[in-house]
Amino acid sequence: MKTADVIVVGGGLIGLAVASGAAARGASVCVVGESRTGEASAAGAGMLAPGAESDELRGDVVVRFAVAGRDLFPSYLQSIRERTGIEVPLDRSGILELSFDEKPASPPVGSEWLDAGALHALEPTLADFTGATLHPYDGSVDNVVLLQALRRLVRTYDAAVLVAGRARSIDVSGMRPRVTLASGDSIEGGFVVLAGGAWVSQLGGLPRPVPVRPVRGQMLSLGASTLHHVTYGGGGYLVPRTGGRTLVGATMEDVGYDCSTTQEGRDTLTSVAARIAPSLGAAPLLSHWAGLRPITPDGLAILGPDPDAPSLLYACGHGRNGILLAPITGESIGAMAVGEAASFDLSPFAIGRFTAAA
Ligand SMILES: Cc1cc2nc3c(=O)[nH]c(=O)nc-3n(C[C@H](O)[C@H](O)[C@H](O)COP(=O)(O)OP(=O)(O)OC[C@H]3O[C@@H](n4cnc5c(N)ncnc54)[C@H](O)[C@@H]3O)c2cc1C
Repeated sequence: MKTADVIVVGGGLIGLAVASGAAARGASVCVVGESRTGEASAAGAGMLAPGAESDELRGDVVVRFAVAGRDLFPSYLQSIRERTGIEVPLDRSGILELSFDEKPASPPVGSEWLDAGALHALEPTLADFTGATLHPYDGSVDNVVLLQALRRLVRTYDAAVLVAGRARSIDVSGMRPRVTLASGDSIEGGFVVLAGGAWVSQLGGLPRPVPVRPVRGQMLSLGASTLHHVTYGGGGYLVPRTGGRTLVGATMEDVGYDCSTTQEGRDTLTSVAARIAPSLGAAPLLSHWAGLRPITPDGLAILGPDPDAPSLLYACGHGRNGILLAPITGESIGAMAVGEAASFDLSPFAIGRFTAAA
């Protein structure tokens, strides 16, 4: 039997961020991760949008957590660069939230209203809009590069290992929790962290139901770039990326674990692009993919210990904002996994809000 202070189930952005957070604090860490079609971390658009996503991020504590998560990115990426040499592209030039009819009654605190003239001066290739709310510190990160960088970061710690395989079940009833793999191997540890994305509820031995379901999102990558800002509205969003590309996202579809792409999804996203920036409607299509968001009933992540099994830590259900929240989740849950207190109030994210023990 192998042992590790911290065993993380799931090797997406969340699992890797928690693993590196714990390893940086001196813990031995084992990440059990099976790669699957439809993983959210590489499929996402990389928006860092606590402002534009404020409908999803309700409540003062939640908004403060999301804003702190966004503002952690520059120093977090710098420390990744120092350990791995990988430069993860980060854009903090602000997100434009378009208005089709009238100025919003109460733009969020800290945002700025741009009328049609000011908007056109900033982004001349946009269609005609009444104006836009500029969320000045929002932006985007290249989540595909971030995922590669976090994998490398975890490997820079001597006491951290990545095991490619499926965790079949956990046992958190005893003094030392245990994870059993589909291969039959077992790992015993001090803490088990659940970071299994949209599949987290399928693990055997959970002490209570974990209400996370998959919601499919389809995305396009277009071979043209005419915008300088992430632009949000009109049923979707556009994210400029390096290399002359623009990402178009995203559908929200309740189709279970089906992560195929559809002609309907492609048509919807092509028309989103054309509605926001008409010249992009004719841009060459480079790729079309889908991923599964791990969504909870109230849209908020599940973070922190199980009330009846304190050696089990949840880091799942990040829904539409798991890229934004990966570094702050890694720091908070990574700290808890070595017995430290999290430096943020995680109470709105407690699993107890949903379920009684099974
Ligand atoms: C189309 C789309 C657009 C998005 N856009 C954004 C955005 O702009 N901004 C933003 O912040 N967020 C965005 N998101 C959401 C974000 O991508 C997710 O919230 C985040 O990536 C979740 O990360 P994760 O590590 O929890 O899940 P995943 O990346 O899905 O990783 C989970 C991993 O766990 C593994 N796993 C599961 N169970 C087991 C097991 N039993 N044993 C071993 N391995 C297991 C899976 O195979 C997978 O590798 C988007 C998502 C989608 C799909």
